[in-house]
Amino acid sequence: MPASRKKVERIFRGIPVSAGVCRGKVYVLVDPKDDGIPHYTVADEDLEKELQRLDRGLRETRSEILQVQQQVAETLGIKDASIFDAHLLVLEDPTLIEEVTLRIQREKINAESAFHQFSEKYATTLSNSKDEYLRERAADMRDVSSRILANLTGRHRLSPLADLPEPCVLVSHDLTPSQTALMDKTKVLGFITDAGSRTSHTAIMARSMRIPAVVGLGNISKELRDGQELLVDGYNGLVALNPTDQTLFEYGQIIRRQVSVEESLRQVREQTATSLDGVRVTLSANIESPDDIESVKASGAEGVGLFRTEYLFINRQRPPTEEEQFDAYQKVAIALNPSPVIIRTLDLGGDKILPELDIPQEMNPFLGWRAIRFCLAETAIFREQLRAILRASVTGNVKMMYPMISGLEELLQANALVEEVRQELRSKGVPFDENMEIGAMIEIPSAALVADSLAKRSKFFSLGTNDLIQYSMAVDRLNAKIAHLYEPTHPAILHLIHHTVKAGKRQGIWTGICGEMASDPSLIPLILGLGVAEFSVASASVPAIKHLIRQTRMSEAIALAEAALQCESGAEILERSRSYARKVAPTLFEHEKPC
Ligand code: PEP
Ligand code: MG
Repeated sequence: MPASRKKVERIFRGIPVSAGVCRGKVYVLVDPKDDGIPHYTVADEDLEKELQRLDRGLRETRSEILQVQQQVAETLGIKDASIFDAHLLVLEDPTLIEEVTLRIQREKINAESAFHQFSEKYATTLSNSKDEYLRERAADMRDVSSRILANLTGRHRLSPLADLPEPCVLVSHDLTPSQTALMDKTKVLGFITDAGSRTSHTAIMARSMRIPAVVGLGNISKELRDGQELLVDGYNGLVALNPTDQTLFEYGQIIRRQVSVEESLRQVREQTATSLDGVRVTLSANIESPDDIESVKASGAEGVGLFRTEYLFINRQRPPTEEEQFDAYQKVAIALNPSPVIIRTLDLGGDKILPELDIPQEMNPFLGWRAIRFCLAETAIFREQLRAILRASVTGNVKMMYPMISGLEELLQANALVEEVRQELRSKGVPFDENMEIGAMIEIPSAALVADSLAKRSKFFSLGTNDLIQYSMAVDRLNAKIAHLYEPTHPAILHLIHHTVKAGKRQGIWTGICGEMASDPSLIPLILGLGVAEFSVASASVPAIKHLIRQTRMSEAIALAEAALQCESGAEILERSRSYARKVAPTLFEHEKPC
């Protein structure tokens, strides 16, 4: 290939949300709500090819319209079919072809962008006309335009996610958790999105599925085209378009080092999460479905610290029945017995939406009708789930917890409903564990502040730091623009965690953590030092976190946390914890690249 035609490497920086490196061909998904017209510069030597592409797009559209016209003529008659004559005329309009050609040549831009700019201007002028005939032509123009653009872009709708033609790197403006759950792991090598952040449920799903992912890349879905070569670095948030041999070589080394780190971490699989000075904590895994059981077992986790049951409800026509739920819960409980399985009651709402349940659209879904609020209103759904969980409680070591408790009232109401369901089961002679422990998630600042009163009515706490941080700092956990403000080590967050743990200890209950903060190796010494007794993380993160706990001296972690509680700066707290973690477990940080 002559030097001038060599593909140039471009590096994009985003937010790393799921570890790993992958390389593959781009497959762009278009959101149906998005007009998604790609815009890019075309090199001088490629302009001729771009004009040919325009010509091909127009010809394909012409034969498509002729075909439709033929079908309409056969079914509805010649008169109706003649409507399409106007569409064919648009395609042959010399002004249109001349204008778009000139734009491509002068502005050196791609055909679809040039066409879109012109057709929009043309359609707007027509629709503003006083002449009714011309106004109607605006609709023809837009109709033909959308056909031409679809042919030029060859872009795909979001629906075929479960059905991708070949292994690829998905590129999209955004992805919902339910779309991510549909991904075929053998086909999706990795994904990148314009929007998103580290604690969105999409990112959490990616980690759980071990798919490398980078989000918050701005406009990348508009810049990339199908078939381009891409490398995704989910450790550092880098994306390389047309990676050079040098880049591929460097990443080859990173991957090899990572494989050897993972091999060495296998040794801790059978060991306990015990600090160097003998303090043992519980290290469990977060799951979304019984399909995750094998990864939990393989990771060396001691059970499940968070079973996000809402994933049983999404991507289906109707909610699961009590029997279906019972089946899912008991499968996990039996497979992991005697290790504990903490089943979280339904946390629908926020970014986990279920169209079938007719939850109204809200201005602020994360502040809206979500989780326990939904369950306390839709008691039939809640009772059904409670029955299924209670019935499963005799099949293993099952515990249950409520999400999004904001204060005592909600906890009491939820407990009262549980008592009613227990009574119902007793009266029918259905067995359940009378002593099944029930805990509260602490993920709203108000709950942390009244933790003393909640602790009197709970058997344990689990810190949902993903939400605790978003609500304490007023930082939307999905918004890439403000992702830099989402600060787990903010002094306020430390004080809320500290306050919760102390309140729990006063009442003799333990506090765990199941938010993503617990998967960040840099923060483990700090969280340990704050007195958190149980960590629940994605299965993929279990070996690294266990290794770190085993390399930490609890007395030093406590000193670190005490010093951190005196600090006024989140950055300083992060630095202190990170440098301790790096000192005791340097191999876990080897894949980091300087910014
Ligand atoms: C959390 O908020 O930290 C949590 C674990 O719950 P989710 O991420 O499902 O909201
Ligand atoms: Mg939460």
